[in-house]
Amino acid sequence: MAQYKRLKGTQDIFGEETKYWYFVESKAREIFLKYGFKEIRTPIIESTELFKRSVGETSDIVQKEMYTFKDKGGRSITLRPEGTAPVVRAYVENSMINLGSPIKLYYMGPMFRYERPQAGRQRQFHQIGVEIFGTDTPISDAEIIILADELLKAFGLKNYKIKINSIGCEKCRPKYKESLKNYYNPLLPNMCHDCQKRYETNIMRLLDCKVDSKYSKDAPVILDHLCEDCKTHFNKVIKYLDELNINYEVDPKIVRGLDYYTKTAFEIEHLDLGAQSAILGGGRYNSLVEEIGGRETPAIGFGVGVERIILALKQENIEIENPEKIDIYIAYSGEKTDFEALKLSKILKKEGLKVFLNLSERSIRNQMKHANKIKAKFVAIIGENELKTETVTIKNMISGEQFEVEKFWVPQILKEKSLLE
Ligand SMILES: [Zn+2]
Ligand SMILES: [Zn+2]
Repeated sequence: MAQYKRLKGTQDIFGEETKYWYFVESKAREIFLKYGFKEIRTPIIESTELFKRSVGETSDIVQKEMYTFKDKGGRSITLRPEGTAPVVRAYVENSMINLGSPIKLYYMGPMFRYERPQAGRQRQFHQIGVEIFGTDTPISDAEIIILADELLKAFGLKNYKIKINSIGCEKCRPKYKESLKNYYNPLLPNMCHDCQKRYETNIMRLLDCKVDSKYSKDAPVILDHLCEDCKTHFNKVIKYLDELNINYEVDPKIVRGLDYYTKTAFEIEHLDLGAQSAILGGGRYNSLVEEIGGRETPAIGFGVGVERIILALKQENIEIENPEKIDIYIAYSGEKTDFEALKLSKILKKEGLKVFLNLSERSIRNQMKHANKIKAKFVAIIGENELKTETVTIKNMISGEQFEVEKFWVPQILKEKSLLE
């Protein structure tokens, strides 16, 4: 029995699992670069105040889910529970407005929330996200949604639905909230404890309560309460998406959990994932930069949950190549064969092959066993005999075929063979 165990809600990612992470991260980078995004890496720890200010004192995240502690200097520090606030903090602190506007940033990395762990929901979870700062045009909302769609397609996913809404602005939202309060007031005694609390603090969240969905059916719809500006904006976003034949549906129940969203809000749901079906969420947040001390700067972005994307990839049986597979294992035994093996390993790597050189003192037989265990496609064997005749014995581990090659021809022959496999 191992003495130490990983903490609840955390995972060790290794073996066959890593290919999914490699795939998702490298595909995301590839697509983001195509759209002109640049990477930002912010610290995992931030001052607690940042999240209280941005995510909101009344949110579940701040009230129940943050990993907050005092450091040795007595400062209150929090492990980031989400990706946007740190990026906004960095944008303001580094005066990125001077880098040209708009600016497009992406990030990836671990986030931390103290929640009940379940499939697709860990306490240390991983998010990939993008943010655009410095533009309020409908075309930027459209581009962000088009990017989200292209990203999921690049992952090979098909079975998802894009849901879009506008949640208004500081001009039109207060009136809408009033009409929601009037609507829910008589229903409240029958609703869940969370809803009764949120009635005062975050009334719009009552719309997406899973327990009380029957009550929200006839609730007033924000799209009927939008001001002229929000309405024009939303309609234009929709027109752009139609122009590019993006599949979406307008869903007035999309309200997003966080206080700082304005205008466009969207979510992508995977249809095979059950309770944790939201794989991507995003929207516009025009007041957040100012809220944490920057100049008024409109912004929009989205975040993807990597664990959930991986669940979706598995659900859709998407085949992913394992970048860690070994092309050739170099086995050797006998005096001075190690020198020959080192040289061959260098040449084969230069040819672009993935090479595992035996590093232990053991028999050829045991080296073959090891090669088999790590699923090498070929083994090159250098024994005393091969050393004398300046040859290498090659074994194809899949077909079992074995042959001797003059050592000069090994790279050539392996490249041809491994291309054929
Ligand atoms: Zn408005
Ligand atoms: Zn409820």
